[in-house]
Amino acid sequence: MAGLEGKRAIVTGASSGIGAATAKALTDAGATVVSGSRRDGSLDVTDEESCRRFVDGALGRLGGLDILVNNAGLARGRDPVWEARDADEHEVILTNVLGLMRMTRLCVQHLVDSGAGHVVNLGSVAGIWSYANGSSYVASKFAVHGYTRALRDDLQGKPVRITNVAPGLVETDFSRVRFGGDEDKARAVYANVAMGGPIRPEDVADSILFALTRPANVNIDEIVLTALAQTSGGNILRDS
Ligand code: NAP
Repeated sequence: MAGLEGKRAIVTGASSGIGAATAKALTDAGATVVSGSRRDGSLDVTDEESCRRFVDGALGRLGGLDILVNNAGLARGRDPVWEARDADEHEVILTNVLGLMRMTRLCVQHLVDSGAGHVVNLGSVAGIWSYANGSSYVASKFAVHGYTRALRDDLQGKPVRITNVAPGLVETDFSRVRFGGDEDKARAVYANVAMGGPIRPEDVADSILFALTRPANVNIDEIVLTALAQTSGGNILRDS
């Protein structure tokens, strides 16, 4: 699907999963994409200097900015509140909330200047329904949902659209990261999901593309997409 010819985009966290699929979808649709993440040394959203350097470099390459996809994010651990680790909570909030806010702050004037800007934030069903043993991640995604609405209020009257995309279970490296590389635990998250399994990163990218390619006066506020077998954050039907 085309529709983004001439658009200039930043996608954070595009080294894997949803971000990688989104960068590809945007490129296939005609956009020029600059993506960044830690593993190629280009962007750490928890580090202000890294973000400034990345945004300056991207703007130099792109000559302006039309689209920001705030995708970089992670979860750490699956523990009840009283067993959660301070360092994990810190990392999750720094990355998912403060990193997203920082990237938005650094990019927003350039999106206004483009005359047709668009911010897409990666929320989650965890930002709509809580589930047990995921408190810092749940808190971070509720914060993303709230921040996205606040951003829309602040930008009212300016030519920038804002979309929150809230996926359910997507099979990516997300669980591998959450469980510190424990492959068995990570695999179990996606195992035996009924009725066709979890959604794929490409499905999320497709929804992002839908929001980006609506007419300029149409703002898609939120897209919630889940596997057919998932009815809320923690309710996933599995084959036995
Ligand atoms: P993933 O495959 O683990 O990808 C996460 C991406 O974020 C990676 O590219 C990672 O790159 C990047 N990242 C993490 N910390 C970063 C940092 N400090 N600075 C820059 N980049 C950073 O997981 P995913 O499932 O695609 O997750 C992408 C987004 O979707 C996240 O916001 C996640 O919360 C959200 N989401 C995922 C699901 C799901 O079920 N998978 C559901 C709902 C929402 P580096 O490691 O190279 O930095």
